[in-house]
Amino acid sequence: MAKAWRARSAVTEGTHVEILVEGISKQFDGVAALTPIDLAIPSGQLVALLGPSGSGKTTLLRLIAGLLPVDAGRIVFGGKDATRLSLRERQVGFVFQHYALFPHMSVFENVAFGLRSRPRAKRPKEAELVTRVDTLLKLVQMTDFRDRLPGQLSGGQRQRVALARAMAIDPTVLLLDEPFGALDAKVRIELRRWLRRLHDETGFTTIFVTHDQEEALELADRVVVMNKGRIEQDDTPDRVYARPASAFVFDFLGRSNQLAGEVRDGLFHASGLVAPLAASNTANGPATLFVRPHDMRLASNGDCQVHARVEAVHRLAGRITVDASVEAQPRPMLMDIAGTDLPNVPERGEMVCLGLNNYQVFANA
Ligand code: ATP
Repeated sequence: MAKAWRARSAVTEGTHVEILVEGISKQFDGVAALTPIDLAIPSGQLVALLGPSGSGKTTLLRLIAGLLPVDAGRIVFGGKDATRLSLRERQVGFVFQHYALFPHMSVFENVAFGLRSRPRAKRPKEAELVTRVDTLLKLVQMTDFRDRLPGQLSGGQRQRVALARAMAIDPTVLLLDEPFGALDAKVRIELRRWLRRLHDETGFTTIFVTHDQEEALELADRVVVMNKGRIEQDDTPDRVYARPASAFVFDFLGRSNQLAGEVRDGLFHASGLVAPLAASNTANGPATLFVRPHDMRLASNGDCQVHARVEAVHRLAGRITVDASVEAQPRPMLMDIAGTDLPNVPERGEMVCLGLNNYQVFANA
């Protein structure tokens, strides 16, 4: 069924859809919510807009949807300038965090709504409409609930109906604004895996907003990390995590340690540590070294890079982590103990030598 749906989509959609955002900006009451943004979304990708609260994710999504006018710049859908087109003209499927289903309509009628409200010439015949809605309900695993009212569904079920409704109009792009944000953690995890499978089956170009890094890293083909109305990095999930482009991205994604110091003549210096730089163009001056807890190891005196005092040892769900303070550093370092270090878990108060397997240095802003 799903494949049949995809085949029909491909026929009506044409071959290649791509969204281009060129230099768009937006202010609210004179305050910039988005500084000029450029973004290209290739056809068929599942793209996450990830960032802290207020970073501009929803504003960008609404501008792409046509729910807000841009102050400057252009939005191109499939090669065609869509900047002045309405949501309906852009043929966008939108899903909000809070299920905006019509409470008095059955699941079936909710999904059918977008098709029934088309102009007569474009409205499918009733038999075709029924087939199409039933195909979608099967796709989102809601066939058994087709005659229920939204009030008789769980939150996760309502969001699946909302997705089916958004897909019913055969959208150019699906835009999802924290679609699982209002659900509890377990349901969220199940639904995001389900959404990934659904995306693989249907192939709709999809952009979703989230402030949950795990959700973005697990679900998306590409992650666009936003901060203060700007794009910090636009990359694969693996690369934004392993090769963060800025101090902000390193700190925002996953756990990280920081050592404050300075760059002098191609080396980073802090609290006795002298570390070579990966990027030779880091300017001399105040800088911060970032390292993930799993990229640190207990070192022997011979390859000691940093001396630290163990402040606490945490044993949690099979994982051992150590808090260790480093002279002249405001925050303790967090280190995961694993592999060959496991028999040598240090004790509180002990002085240890730390080695860094992998790190990045960024000049202070
Ligand atoms: P969240 O995760 O909290 O939803 P976000 O990253 O989606 O945040 P936006 O909602 O895009 O952020 O908001 C970006 C900035 O624009 C914020 O400073 C916000 O206060 C402001 N803003 C958004 N919408 C409006 C509006 N309608 N009127 C005034 N300011 C707004």
